Amino acid sequence: MNRLLEAVVENNRQWTKEGKIATYIPELGKADPNTLGICITTLHGEEYFGGDYETKFTIQSISKVITLMLALLDNGRDRVFSKVGVEPTADAFNSIITLETKNTQKPLNPMINAGAIATVSLIEGKNSEEAFNRILNFTRKITGNPDININKDVYNSEKATGHRNRALAYFMKSTGVIENDVEEVLDVYFRQCSMEATCKDIARIGAMLANDGVLPWSGERIIPRHVARIVKTIMVTCGLYDASGQFAVEIGVPAKSGVGGGILAAVPGRMGIGVLSPALDARGNSIAGLKALEELSKELDLSIF
Ligand code: GLN
Repeated sequence: MNRLLEAVVENNRQWTKEGKIATYIPELGKADPNTLGICITTLHGEEYFGGDYETKFTIQSISKVITLMLALLDNGRDRVFSKVGVEPTADAFNSIITLETKNTQKPLNPMINAGAIATVSLIEGKNSEEAFNRILNFTRKITGNPDININKDVYNSEKATGHRNRALAYFMKSTGVIENDVEEVLDVYFRQCSMEATCKDIARIGAMLANDGVLPWSGERIIPRHVARIVKTIMVTCGLYDASGQFAVEIGVPAKSGVGGGILAAVPGRMGIGVLSPALDARGNSIAGLKALEELSKELDLSIF
């Protein structure tokens, strides 16, 4: 398997030259565009690696999977889905348009920025510090990595430039979707996006989801089966933003991308996969990461469809 992953990396390294690194968060612009790494964690707890799997990156939107799980644990599905929908989008991940034009005023789904910010506002904690520490500890538990932390430079960079996210959040405050202090909610969101991980960490999150909420290596249940099912379903329909349909056709597994270039995939009953390559396509998804996942999906027959 390690040989297969090395071959997938070599076959797809050429794609790292396509696309652009995200620079709208200035600190992300420092990433090395040639990077391509993969890790697989099976449901027997075995781990396989290829390429630059040890490179750290900020998980960005992949954190939306983590905060959706925690919000569902804290509030139950009825409350969460009274604030955010479960419908896919045809607009960009940071789009504002449907907040006003849809008559429900709910953001479309928890995998785009507006929906994630609304979801995060539901996570318990008396302030942003406490809410974020719960997210951080939850992430450390799922990954089995007590060293997960935020990249302070990326956090400061995003906090300083995150005006679009501020616009989304203040708009949702005006419509009552967000009930608590907007700046506190945004602070949690900026921190969660700045959590730093490797392909191995995100493969482990995928493996827990693929295993219906149980950590494969210890047998510990992290989330109930029905929460794992909801999260994987929303990953299939919404995880790659407005490219989710194409991803389902080409690759066909629950997945979530982030503008740091990471992609987390959960192959039900089989494995978690973490991929990293920072150069993105126009929709904000890693180009070489998608190509590598596509080859892997064909080689290992991973599509759930
Ligand atoms: N932190 C990023 C933002 O809010 C996350 C977006 C993403 O990964 N697509 O813009």
